[in-house]
Amino acid sequence: MSKQQQLDDIKQKIVDDKITPELAEGATQLVFGVGNPDADIVFIGEAPGKNEDLQGEPFVGAAGRFLNEMLEMIGLERKDIYITNIVKYRPPNNRDPHPDEKQAFIPYLESQLDVIQPKLVVTLGRHSLNCFLPDLQISRCHGQPKRYQGRVYLPLFHPAAALYNGDMRQTLVDDFASIPAIIEKIQSS
Ligand code: URA
Repeated sequence: MSKQQQLDDIKQKIVDDKITPELAEGATQLVFGVGNPDADIVFIGEAPGKNEDLQGEPFVGAAGRFLNEMLEMIGLERKDIYITNIVKYRPPNNRDPHPDEKQAFIPYLESQLDVIQPKLVVTLGRHSLNCFLPDLQISRCHGQPKRYQGRVYLPLFHPAAALYNGDMRQTLVDDFASIPAIIEKIQSS
């Protein structure tokens, strides 16, 4: 079975398993993830917002356009990477996802990563970071690759948080610029 077929099966399983039925009820659709199933890099956000809920694709609003700019800066396009969120239905009024909602989606996220087998998992924001590395603080570890249980993670600030905060924005851009060197180091190790 191709990687894309395996990902399609995971998507269907989220529906069949009736994960977070209250969120599903309030959302327009499931926002599973898009991009290249053979990507070296997987980006993981928090949860879909309004635009993502309507279009069925992660990071298509203002934060997504900022992400696209940073990808271009390192010579990549959306088709080169894979992008998803922890929680795959939009929480009402864009509230933070609850711990039990994040927990419910983690096995499916793990399955997505097991299929794609990226060289680098980039976590966007603290929710995403703390799903994998619960003891780390984003303010302290952003931009520093972390090897943990067979994967390499790069914690980054969330583009929506950094968008209108000059200092954080520059920090995020600087951290993002280090991605090619990190990938090279992983490949040569
Ligand atoms: N913020 C996220 O965390 N994910 C999206 O898909 C959009 C905004």
